[in-house]
Amino acid sequence: MGRIVILRIGHRAFRDKRITTHVGLTARALGAEGMLLASDDPSIKQNIEDVATRWGGDFYVTNDVNWKHEVKKWKDAGGKVCHLSMYGVNLPNAVDDLKQCEQLMIVVGAEKVPPEIYDLADWNIAVGNQPHSEVAAIAITLDRIATADPLRQSLPGGQLTIVPMEKGKKVIERQ
Ligand code: SAM
Repeated sequence: MGRIVILRIGHRAFRDKRITTHVGLTARALGAEGMLLASDDPSIKQNIEDVATRWGGDFYVTNDVNWKHEVKKWKDAGGKVCHLSMYGVNLPNAVDDLKQCEQLMIVVGAEKVPPEIYDLADWNIAVGNQPHSEVAAIAITLDRIATADPLRQSLPGGQLTIVPMEKGKKVIERQ
């Protein structure tokens, strides 16, 4: 896999803060380079980028983008767009095509998504054809399309590193 960017649409600042933060944190932990947020909620950017500063990597959040403009810009630059929707083609049937992408934008909604996204996307992909969660959909998609195991990646830099252990917690802090 090449570059992966998440586009989060439909975020409502009064009720989706936690889940949108989890979309970003999950995307970061599983290999995406950043998240474009198609709503104005600077606290999401702040929270996720604070995690990146402490725990490593260069994951970014761009606040308040125009989603249609970003999709068109991405496609004009040669990227592909995968919209995650329970109504789409089931992921196991598309995973080989997705793995070929050099630049992939993955779009996830919150409540109801604008109907145009179904036409603008190169793929409408279901992570199983049952309703569940955008966090789960992102996690499973990033894991299935990865060419190297994303759970074995280490993110460079950061102030804190976990030393995995069978019991207890150990964290090394850099000054
Ligand atoms: N009822 C909404 C609709 O019809 O668009 C779906 C809301 S769902 C909680 C929020 C987002 O989670 C969806 O926009 C989609 O991106 C993602 N999602 C939920 N279930 C999914 C599934 N089975 N496959 C892929 N994405 C899913």
